[in-house]
Amino acid sequence: MSQSSSLQDLLRTLITANHILHYYNIVDGFGHISIRHPDPSKQTYIMPGYLAPALVHCADDLIEYHISDGSPVDPNAKKGYSERFIHGEIFKRFPSINCVIHSHSEAVLPFMIAGVPMRPAFHMAGFLGADVPMFDITKIYEAGDQQDMLVNNVKFGSALASHFAENTADSTSPLPDHLVVLMRHHGFTTLGESIQDAVYRAMYTQTNASILSTAANLRSSFYGPALTRESGAAQGSDGSGLDLLSASEMAGCRNMNEATADKAFRLWVREVEVLPLYVNELAEK
Ligand SMILES: [Zn+2]
Repeated sequence: MSQSSSLQDLLRTLITANHILHYYNIVDGFGHISIRHPDPSKQTYIMPGYLAPALVHCADDLIEYHISDGSPVDPNAKKGYSERFIHGEIFKRFPSINCVIHSHSEAVLPFMIAGVPMRPAFHMAGFLGADVPMFDITKIYEAGDQQDMLVNNVKFGSALASHFAENTADSTSPLPDHLVVLMRHHGFTTLGESIQDAVYRAMYTQTNASILSTAANLRSSFYGPALTRESGAAQGSDGSGLDLLSASEMAGCRNMNEATADKAFRLWVREVEVLPLYVNELAEK
């Protein structure tokens, strides 16, 4: 397809973002990132076809979908991801959001299994806020649904998207109340106004999970494994005994996170540019 320069820039960055997410183990052969088409009259979004993110390398690897129903703009488009409805339904619900990332990060998954809440443990993860919602797809399964946890239709995608808002009954919201939603036994989804914002949030959701796991294990090894919400020491505010960010610290750090995301992104771009695994045919020569 012929592309305006701004679309060309976005597609170039989208391809590179695929590589960054792979380099940092946020995606492996699975997981995906999408962008809203910059022309609002089109009401479409763009994401890779059925291809490992590390191998996405040219515009032909990308597929454009209608936000309305997740159908491809080109009826003859190659195979796409069955979970594209994660992306389309978030773009539908939140007009301010231009990028969505879905991950099965091994560092984050334990928080969907152990019953331990995800909380911001350090200043780079203030955007997580005091409450990271959990989406449990099994609560909306109906007879006949294949219970493979995949968000592979409008109903499931819409239910997931609703978890980014405090009022899940609203059909649209200008801004999400939450920037990350955990998905039980599956992974997590995050979003952003830009590719840079969304990648930053995916990266530091994963880093925060690793740090929080290490801190909880460290505390348990010192004070015993029987630590529960009830037996937790006075430190922190959630009874876990962990010293986590306060509400005012979360808010201040979130502002700082948004102001600094682009700096880290430039480093991540360079890291994947120099590795031969990652090819971006849209990169400036
Ligand atoms: Zn998935």
